Amino acid sequence: MRRLCLLPLTALALGLVLWTAGLEAVQDPIPPIEVHRITDTLHMLGSGMETGGNIAVLVAESGVVLVDTKNEGYGPTILDLVRQITYKPVTMIINTHVHYDHSGANTEFPDTVQFVAHENIRRHWARTDCQPTPTNCDDFQGENRKYLPKTTFNDRLSLFTGTPDQIDLYYFGRGHTDGDTFVVFKEARTMHVGDMFLGKTLPFIDAENGNGGSAIEFGRTLTKVIDNVRDVDTIINGHWNTLLTWSDLVDYRGFYMDLYDQTRRSLDIGLSPEEAIAAYEKPARYSEFAANKGAGAFTVNSIVNYIYQGI
Ligand SMILES: [Zn+2]
Repeated sequence: MRRLCLLPLTALALGLVLWTAGLEAVQDPIPPIEVHRITDTLHMLGSGMETGGNIAVLVAESGVVLVDTKNEGYGPTILDLVRQITYKPVTMIINTHVHYDHSGANTEFPDTVQFVAHENIRRHWARTDCQPTPTNCDDFQGENRKYLPKTTFNDRLSLFTGTPDQIDLYYFGRGHTDGDTFVVFKEARTMHVGDMFLGKTLPFIDAENGNGGSAIEFGRTLTKVIDNVRDVDTIINGHWNTLLTWSDLVDYRGFYMDLYDQTRRSLDIGLSPEEAIAAYEKPARYSEFAANKGAGAFTVNSIVNYIYQGI
């Protein structure tokens, strides 16, 4: 029972706490998945943490392209929502990273779909010694090995090049995992960033499950995105049920790098991790971003501890 593993559930529970902390009204346990229109041909399917990551739906000339597929079991729901947008079939699925809440329904689509992913994502899914981790490895064993992505890339891949459907995939290094893919829909000036920016909270660094996450590299990778990607206005984030902007991404990089820099200074003057956590103060200009202190993922504590450990 992969879904019962402790770490992702702990992370999810903490995420839910953070997600609901600022809300006035009591939320339904599983909110409906909302369709957010970006352009006539590009939509986001969102709902918050509970159903899994946000999905991008591009209605391309040759069929529908999905970026991510939420948790296991959501395939039929996703298809129903796609049918509200277009009669075209799903022909391509791109995944932003290895986690089950972004790829759980991949194997619920026909195996004729073209699956596209970073080579590190494929490598993790292809392991035969799956552990109960957030990695969606169990889904690709046995008969389901046919669902392993056949189209992979290392640092950059352009799809439908030179057409209005052009999609550019970028990999800039480690962060949330070691396969985080930035998916740019050129005509819509929109980028899906997966969990490299899951919402206005600190990230989960998946460093303990063989997935290559790095708190030290996280901010550098965001900086490479900001320095190298051009002509993007709209950001599809990992989990928040709203569209964000390029300037939100730039602020997020600043928010993260400030925590990183404060931690480095604490390390340099010989403070302990506990003292570094206590010393951290969030600058007022990042008031929109949650920087909770405490146990578990998505916290100042977890980021500071990883930086101290050189991860
Ligand atoms: Zn993730």
